[in-house]
Amino acid sequence: MTEHGNAFASQSFPPDAEGRVIRHNMLIDFAFGHRRILRDFAREHTDFASYFRAMQSLTIEDVASELEVAKKDSLLMTVLMLTGQCDANCAICYTDRKARFSGLQADEFCAVLDQTYALGSRLLYIPGEGEPTLDDSFWIVVEHAHSLGMETVLFTNGILLSKDAAVFRKWRMTAEEAVLRLASCSVSVYHKLWSVYPEKLARLMGIKLDVYDWAAIAVNGRRYTVPRGLRLLLENMPRNRVGIQVVAGKASIVEISEKLIPLVQGLGIKSYIEPPLHSGRNFGVRSQDPCAEELGLLGSWLARSACPRIVYEIVVHNDGIISPGMAFRPTDLFSDPEAKGRYSVRNSDGSLRDIFSLIHEDPFLAWCRYQISGCLCQQINDWLASHQATRPEGASAQHSAGPVPDLFGAFARDGGRQAERAPCQ
Ligand code: SF4
Repeated sequence: MTEHGNAFASQSFPPDAEGRVIRHNMLIDFAFGHRRILRDFAREHTDFASYFRAMQSLTIEDVASELEVAKKDSLLMTVLMLTGQCDANCAICYTDRKARFSGLQADEFCAVLDQTYALGSRLLYIPGEGEPTLDDSFWIVVEHAHSLGMETVLFTNGILLSKDAAVFRKWRMTAEEAVLRLASCSVSVYHKLWSVYPEKLARLMGIKLDVYDWAAIAVNGRRYTVPRGLRLLLENMPRNRVGIQVVAGKASIVEISEKLIPLVQGLGIKSYIEPPLHSGRNFGVRSQDPCAEELGLLGSWLARSACPRIVYEIVVHNDGIISPGMAFRPTDLFSDPEAKGRYSVRNSDGSLRDIFSLIHEDPFLAWCRYQISGCLCQQINDWLASHQATRPEGASAQHSAGPVPDLFGAFARDGGRQAERAPCQ
């Protein structure tokens, strides 16, 4: 188990690699002038205090020569949000589940990967801003990552993978061929499985029962009916590359302990069991949250309790906006055109920007990089929701004026970072 629960090996970085990349980012951000941010970070995270002190005695020449080494080893993972379109309709979806007209094209996704690979990233992470397999760029992106030598972690609802006719219409192959192709591209797959009861799973996903084709699997003498795509994954991929994803919401929390974890153990697969994210259509909604005690019972099965990867991941949303974490809607953060342009990987002429400069020049992204205690996505979404709730009626719910870092400076001062979970009723 890691701080991300029972996650795939490729998304769990050894502490020495994390420490090294954090130091590299410190050096880079030092060179970019974010000294106050680094000082605050080193105060809170004393493991890095001596490195911060040592940096201050470096000459300009020392910094310049170390910068080149640090730059090539400053990212560990690249998060790409493919299409916002989805064929499910989950009530607690953490995205706004919208296809975007200005979505990045395949060549742009690949060019982003080229840049982030040069910065050290060896993992492509596709969590879904919708259902990623519906994106026309899907295979081009996954195969490009593979050709670079990157591994991929994919989250999918598996609807397409369950149906031969649909997968043939989309990709001109059978579902089994699609699974084999994923396996040949070093992809590890989390298949959504929020319940082992088909009717309940369909209800939680807001779909009709026949949206999936179903198949039986046997585990420890028990028979389960699961989406057929999951069975194909189990039959055609190594078990350490197959996992299930489940949101530990009120509707699933008991079943996770009683059924889903034993299923994962019986199959010898991976799992990504995560607390609900208060983003997208679940923004500001607390009614589906389990209480802290219930979540606590999941212990180390629970992913995302602390998230150092905010330092070494880059998140590129479907419309090209870079944000500090995966579980933000860019529209919540950057609603005005000026801010959007500032955080877009696209230049106004459509060419791709230099991502290294973009993520290190900007004080807001630099500040976020060092908020590694807890889950920054959760903290900021909670803060945004409460901030929104106290706005005068009629005021914009989104940030629309002034520099974005001011909003987040307010967030930090507010102590909004300490979001409390509801006690058990
Ligand atoms: S949670 Fe995933 S599968 Fe469900 S509606 Fe949102 S994007 Fe689609």
